[in-house]
Amino acid sequence: MQLDLFSDAADLTAAIVDIESVSRDEKALADAVEEALRALPHLTVDRDGNTVVARTDLGHAERVVLAGHLDTVPLNGNLPSRVEGDRLYGCGTTDMKSGVAVALRLAATIPAPTRDVTYVFYECEEIEAEHNGLKRLAAGRPELLRGDFAVLMEPTGGQIEGGCQGTLRVEVTAKGERAHSARSWMGSNAIHTAGQILDVLRAYEPSRPVVDGLEYHEGLNAVFIRGGVAGNVIPDECVVTVNYRFAPDKSPAEAEEYVRGVFAGFHVEVTDSASAARPGLTHPAAAAFVKAADAPVRAKLGWTDVARFDELGIPAVNYGPGEPTLAHTKDEYVELPLIADCERRMRSFLIATPAV
Ligand SMILES: [Zn+2]
Repeated sequence: MQLDLFSDAADLTAAIVDIESVSRDEKALADAVEEALRALPHLTVDRDGNTVVARTDLGHAERVVLAGHLDTVPLNGNLPSRVEGDRLYGCGTTDMKSGVAVALRLAATIPAPTRDVTYVFYECEEIEAEHNGLKRLAAGRPELLRGDFAVLMEPTGGQIEGGCQGTLRVEVTAKGERAHSARSWMGSNAIHTAGQILDVLRAYEPSRPVVDGLEYHEGLNAVFIRGGVAGNVIPDECVVTVNYRFAPDKSPAEAEEYVRGVFAGFHVEVTDSASAARPGLTHPAAAAFVKAADAPVRAKLGWTDVARFDELGIPAVNYGPGEPTLAHTKDEYVELPLIADCERRMRSFLIATPAV
């Protein structure tokens, strides 16, 4: 299937949505994207698996990276796409093929941007990180992601969402001693002791750090609890899994140190962690983007792939036409006027005079 990058953004979104691309099955869409981009003489195109990178090389001092994932969550009887009024329905319309369509339109129609631009269309964002195309590029071919500022065109409802919060998961263990429940005083009940862990969580007051002018909102919550041996045994262990969502004023190491301090006296084991990303809005390219896009700016509270750019030292924001609360739903849709609006704002950024 061929994509016409010069058709309007709404039609292009529908065409992309109709090329099924559930995670790990993005080849057909990646082929179509690659073919359409290779037809544009002002772009250098690279392909890595089902991830496609296209760049202008005009020798500008600054380079902007626009990125979007090609994959979707599994279908739910929601293909092919259909238009109803101002809405385009279908799997991936909001998350995030409308953002991909905008990036492709910009790639095709702005041969001479005022900053060099790298367009990244990558695979496997919706599944385990080990398959993530952006992660693989960052590790294996970081030169392809080089840039001064990145915009990840995930659904944000047209708002600019700066940076992202980090996440840390730990297992906090309360210890006890087994005994027959008929003689419970001979043992020590670990589930009862775990009440102290829950007390800490209940009393926790989330801080709201301000980073680069944006207010984040931390969270410390129990997400699992396990314990118990048998119906007549005093349990000797109870494990509470705690998820800490932390703002970009902390590194994962600092987040770990903080959580260990909160649960001092208990055994704490880290099972998963991902760093936060600073919004970096003080960078001139980022500031120019905020000015050109002229859209509200808020902190991103969830974890997104902007953190992968942050790890490469590239400030990044999320900005896209989709409505995030519709992502992954059966009735997912995107408002067609918002696609055109996002494209117009991005266009004014890419052709704006760069700060010297
Ligand atoms: Zn997404």
